[in-house]
Amino acid sequence: MKYYSTNKKVTGVSLQDAVVKGLAEDKGLFMPDSIKVLPQSFFDTIENLTFQEIAYKVADTFFGEDVEATALKDIVYETLNFDTPLVHVVNNIYSLELYHGPTLAFKDVGGRFMSRLLGYFIKKQTKTTVNVLVATSGDTGSAVANGFLGVEGIHVYVLYPKGLVSPIQECQFTTLGRNITALEVDGTFDDCQALVKSAFIDDELNAKMKLTSANSINVARFLPQSFYYFYAYAQLKKLGKADNLVMCVPSGNFGNITAGLFAKRMGLPVKHFIAANNRNDIFLQYLQTGEYNPRPSVSTIANAMDVGDPSNFARVLDLFEGSHRAIIDQIGGVSYNDNQIADTLKSCYVQTGYLLDPHGACGYRALNEMLKENETGVFLETAHPAKFLETVENIIGEKVEIPQKLKEFMKGEKKSLLLPKDFETFKSYLLNI
Ligand SMILES: *Cc1c(COP(=O)(O)O)cnc(C)c1O
Repeated sequence: MKYYSTNKKVTGVSLQDAVVKGLAEDKGLFMPDSIKVLPQSFFDTIENLTFQEIAYKVADTFFGEDVEATALKDIVYETLNFDTPLVHVVNNIYSLELYHGPTLAFKDVGGRFMSRLLGYFIKKQTKTTVNVLVATSGDTGSAVANGFLGVEGIHVYVLYPKGLVSPIQECQFTTLGRNITALEVDGTFDDCQALVKSAFIDDELNAKMKLTSANSINVARFLPQSFYYFYAYAQLKKLGKADNLVMCVPSGNFGNITAGLFAKRMGLPVKHFIAANNRNDIFLQYLQTGEYNPRPSVSTIANAMDVGDPSNFARVLDLFEGSHRAIIDQIGGVSYNDNQIADTLKSCYVQTGYLLDPHGACGYRALNEMLKENETGVFLETAHPAKFLETVENIIGEKVEIPQKLKEFMKGEKKSLLLPKDFETFKSYLLNI
């Protein structure tokens, strides 16, 4: 399969180059030349397959031409070597809990898959170390760092804003050591992202070292997220609930929902998608007006969605050939403020005993408000509520139990390097490693 850039100036790129580069030279995002449709027979019996079997079939459809079958199978099975997502029904709405992996957020699958695929290509291609730069507001850093921990030939630099990630999130990438370095930037998430982007386009740096991105601009990170949608469908089919499926995705950079749109292109019978936003409602504004106006993000209690210029919007536009009409036909949107998120989290907990996290709460509320009579709604519960401990405890007025996996991270010693937010300091740091 060849890949082209959403900015259309770069075409015919191999999967290997798309993964190693991350972003195309014209600063567009890579897209596959075509999306293959899976045979009806796959969907007829999908409910009998395990998560790994479903994922391998999907991965083979995307990557089978470019990765040897046994290697791809190993990559998929190692990636998913943890508890599978759980389906939970709350008030006739289905929650697909994607937080049973090592760092308790859905990004584990993309982080683990990408680390292994990149490792596979590096072994074939080069002997030089590849440096992965990743900017995080919390969850991406932990998923990517844990996914890449110990992978030979790769060093990961996690840039995070000083004082702006929760202590639990911070310990998930500052206590690992080995090939993971945490860089604490005296600035905001936007400053971290700007440092990373400047590094990718800096000629001197790129001449000296191999740099790539593990944010969801990388095809190897966002595409594997489509596994979730097929798995969700299989679980609902088992329950006899797979008709008129509406899937609601708490969205920030729009990597996760884009993977869902790819799944639909591959034949997955989803009727409609809903992108649930916090107050950062750039996408909702686009749906309503047809105009895309990025603006600086505002901070909310669903902070993993505090994005003012969602990078994967370029992919959504490209998938629908820029047609606003085609986009609103398939994707709806909502935006909730912090009070609405907190109210939803609290009332769901009081009425049903089910504890949402602030991101999932947006998805749950959207389905409550928007689902039509004959539809079945599934929202992706993107992270474990304990990852946002203080916020959630304040809302429900009770202690939240911290899962053992999270407690383990909290035992380690925190190590990070404090950097100012100017690019020159960051650049000279990289040049001297
Ligand atoms: C990253 C993240 C999101 C947003 O996902 P995108 O792919 O960026 O749209 C939602 N919820 C949680 C908990 C996250 O970590």
